[in-house]
Amino acid sequence: MKDLTRCVITPKVKMEGFDPLGSAIHRASTIVFENAAAYANRLERGPDGYSYGLYGTPTTRTLERKLTELERGGRTLLVPSGQAANTIAMLAFLRAGDKVLIADTVYPPMRDFADSDLPKFGVTVVYYDPTSPAEVERLIDERTRIVWCESPGSTTMEVQDLPKIAEIAHRYGALVGCDNTWATPLNFKPLMHGADIVTEALTKYVAGHSDVLMGSISVSDEAHFLTIRSSMGRLGIGVSPDDASLVLRGMETLGVRMKHAHEGAMAAIDLLQGHPLVERVLYPALADCLGHDIWKRDFLGASGVFSVIFVPEAVEHVSAALDALETFAIGASWGGTRSLVAPMPVKVNRTATKWIGNDLVLRVSIGLEAHEDLMADLQRMLRTIEMRIATGLSRAVPHSAAR
Ligand SMILES: *Cc1c(COP(=O)(O)O)cnc(C)c1O
Repeated sequence: MKDLTRCVITPKVKMEGFDPLGSAIHRASTIVFENAAAYANRLERGPDGYSYGLYGTPTTRTLERKLTELERGGRTLLVPSGQAANTIAMLAFLRAGDKVLIADTVYPPMRDFADSDLPKFGVTVVYYDPTSPAEVERLIDERTRIVWCESPGSTTMEVQDLPKIAEIAHRYGALVGCDNTWATPLNFKPLMHGADIVTEALTKYVAGHSDVLMGSISVSDEAHFLTIRSSMGRLGIGVSPDDASLVLRGMETLGVRMKHAHEGAMAAIDLLQGHPLVERVLYPALADCLGHDIWKRDFLGASGVFSVIFVPEAVEHVSAALDALETFAIGASWGGTRSLVAPMPVKVNRTATKWIGNDLVLRVSIGLEAHEDLMADLQRMLRTIEMRIATGLSRAVPHSAAR
C-alpha cells in the first residue's frame, strides 16, 4: 500500500474495554457496506439500521432513545430546531383541503408559519381559545387533521385540558400535537395525556446552555413515526452528531437545573407579587393562573419561566428599568444557565381571544445564578421604575430634549 492510500484509509482500533460514561460523536455522511448485496438491500435495514448519515448515527440514536424513554413514547426524531419540530410535525401529515386548529397562545413563529405557509398548500388554519375544549368541539369537523396545543401557552401561560381536547379530536379522527417546551419531558408527558405527537425545543432546558439549536418530535404510534421519518428524508432534514452530543451532555443535568430554576422562580415571584408596581404574575404553579387545577392534575412540576404584568403607570418605564439590570441579560430563548428577560407583545399574537390590559408582558427565565443576586437585580429594576415615576420621567419626553 502506498502512503497516499494509507492517508485515506482509517484503521480500525480496538474498541473493547473502552467504556466511557458519555456518548461518542460518530460523524458520517457515507456509511460503507460489507458487499454489493448489502448495499443494494440497504433499505431493508429499516429505521433502526444505518444507511446514510442523514438518516441517523449512533450519536443521534442515543439522544432519540433517551428522549423516547422520558416522553414514554415509542419513537423520537431529531430536527434542527424547536420551530422545525413544530412545522415538520404538521407538514408530514397535512394535505390540501385539510384544516388545522391551533391554540391562540401558540409560539409566535408557529403562528407566522400557519398564516404564511399553510394556506399556500391549501390548508385552512383556525385558532381556538386554549382554555376552551367547548370551542374545539364547536370548530372541529371531519376535515380537521390536526389539533395543535401548547401548554402552558407562550407568554400568557394558560394550561390546556389536553385529555379533554384529545378526546374531542380523536372522535373526529384528528391528530393532537403538543409543544411541550416549557415543561420539558421531566414535568409533563403529553403522550400519556392523549397527545399523538409531542415536540420539544431542546434548544431551551434540555440542552440548557444557550449554545445549540435542536428540536425533537416524539410519537407513540409506529405508523406516525414512519410518516414523519419519510417526510424528513425527502425534505433532507437531519441533525449533526456534534450538536446531538452537546444536547446529550446538557441533558444529564436537566433535573438539577430545573429544580434550581424553579426555586429561583418561586423566590422571584414572591418578591414581585408583593410589589405595588406589579399587577400580576403569570405562572402555572400560581392558584390564579388559568388552568392551574389542570397543571396540578397533569404536570409533575414547574420550570423557571414566568411572565410579569406591571401596573399601567409602570409600563412606559419598563424598558429603561431593564437597562439597569446587571445579572439578568436581555434576550430571546430561555432555559439556559443565564437568567433572561424579554418584553413580549401579546395583542398581535391573539386572534381567537382578546388580551385585555397592557400589551407589555415581561417574560422572565430564571437561570442558575445565586438567588440573592437575582433578587437584588429585580429590586434594582423595580427601584428604577419607582424613581422614574416619582421624578415624572417619561419615554415620550426624553429629558435630553427638555431645555
Ligand atoms: C423557543 C421555542 C420554540 C422554538 O425553539 P427553537 O429551537 O428556538 O426554534 C418552540 N416552541 C416554544 C414553546 C418555544 O419556547
